[in-house]
Amino acid sequence: MTTLGIEDYTALRRQSAGTVLTPADHGYDAARTVWNGGVDRYPALIAQAGGPADVATALEFARQHGLAVSVKGGGHNMRGDAVCDDGLVIDLSALRAITVNATARTIHCGGGCTWAEVDAAGQQVGLAVPGGTVSDTGVGGLTLGGGVGWLTARHGLTVDNLLSAEVVTADGVARHASADEHPDLFWALRGGGGNFGVVTRFEFRAHPVGPIVQLGLFFWPIEQGTGALRFIRDTVVALPPGMGAMIAGLNAPPAPFVPPEVQQTPGYALVVAGFDGPEQHAGVVAEVRSGPPAAFELVSPIPYVELQKLIDPGSPRGMLSYEKALYVDTLSDEVLDVIAEYQPQKSAPLSITPIFPLRDTYTTVPDDATAFGGTRAPKFAVNVATMAPDPELYATDRAWVRRFWTALAPHASSTGGYVNFMADYDEDRVRAAYGATKFDRLSRIKAGYDPDNVFRPGANIRPAVDA
Ligand code: FAD
Repeated sequence: MTTLGIEDYTALRRQSAGTVLTPADHGYDAARTVWNGGVDRYPALIAQAGGPADVATALEFARQHGLAVSVKGGGHNMRGDAVCDDGLVIDLSALRAITVNATARTIHCGGGCTWAEVDAAGQQVGLAVPGGTVSDTGVGGLTLGGGVGWLTARHGLTVDNLLSAEVVTADGVARHASADEHPDLFWALRGGGGNFGVVTRFEFRAHPVGPIVQLGLFFWPIEQGTGALRFIRDTVVALPPGMGAMIAGLNAPPAPFVPPEVQQTPGYALVVAGFDGPEQHAGVVAEVRSGPPAAFELVSPIPYVELQKLIDPGSPRGMLSYEKALYVDTLSDEVLDVIAEYQPQKSAPLSITPIFPLRDTYTTVPDDATAFGGTRAPKFAVNVATMAPDPELYATDRAWVRRFWTALAPHASSTGGYVNFMADYDEDRVRAAYGATKFDRLSRIKAGYDPDNVFRPGANIRPAVDA
């Protein structure tokens, strides 16, 4: 346990424009809390940075006192990487300024923003940056790992739309990374996670989207098994280019649009999100309605910002959570058989298997253009996750996640999967997630910017020793 004296806190406070919280301070508990209720860590200090200078000061303080460092964006990382026991948390929650340039179609945002904030600001002028599917996820962690959401098929990953980043590297220097400045660092930031520095400001390319988009949500009972799953798969592979989609094994929500007798029952959902007007979407809806009858559907125009919050109620903060993910090239009949066998075995009502199709614009970006840990061949990211209200259900469904994932693994194109969908890591899986070539390149870049491995998120890329 690191022992810091009052004079240490005082010195750090004097040098920082932001707030510095000790365990004795009001606000400390809120600041150390993350999305996963199973994570309960006690940092020695939490430095709520007001800008790059505070980040540099905090890094120097941590170095002088031998403290481990963690970086907190939106706090959504399932393993709780944002907080560390006995170390120093650099909390970016105060960095929330957003500037939208409607003419240039760019959005600048602080490193502590959530997607809800960026979505709301962009939509003031009908623009959107491809983000995630849960609105209180942090822009920071989601972007640095890749960023998959409703707009991936239309405009690519979040990292494909990152234009530049203001980043404080381990030496305390604030750098501007872009295609022209520190291009190696810029490449690494686009997929390499929180390994390379603290991003205080992101600049994104934004696209005209909405403000009204088209939603189609369909749900089939779990008993329909492979019949429903094959129909959903065939529908997804035939979708018009750029249409957003998600497949999920889950319980029907207790929402007003769900018939009372169907609420909370398990099944399979297909969500199709249309950005090209009602006519194109209506064609897809008609196709879905011609298939096996759904237990309920919700088909409606909705504001883009509401689409971005559609599944928020299914992932409340404070649940005990765990996940494992992998990529499959296709949803073959064999993969669907595994899903139909294992999905009914979950116990916690909120445990879920979301499947993200990675297609269209996602596939047009060259593999080596970014550090994203997945090839750009079309594929599906399959994520098996538990969110449980108590330790007993958590233990049951964590075992379910592991069994399910193990049964899927023989069909995977990469069992490394997407680094942002990993609740536990080992070096082999992280290496597998990136592939040897990208991992080695990242490791060499790491040696240049963080030779002492100050930034050590769970999916850690250690500095190359021979660099
Ligand atoms: P945090 O826990 O705050 O940060 C995670 C790590 O990212 C930190 O340890 C740090 O290393 C790094 N980090 C964060 N911000 C910065 C920064 N500004 N500078 C440097 N490093 C930083 N992912 C998707 O792609 N699409 C989805 O639709 C999606 N949905 C999700 C839904 C839920 C309910 C959850 C729990 C996760 C989801 N994710 C999704 C995964 C998500 O991308 C990761 O959990 C991501 O790490 C969250 O970022 P954060 O800033 O909220 O996390």
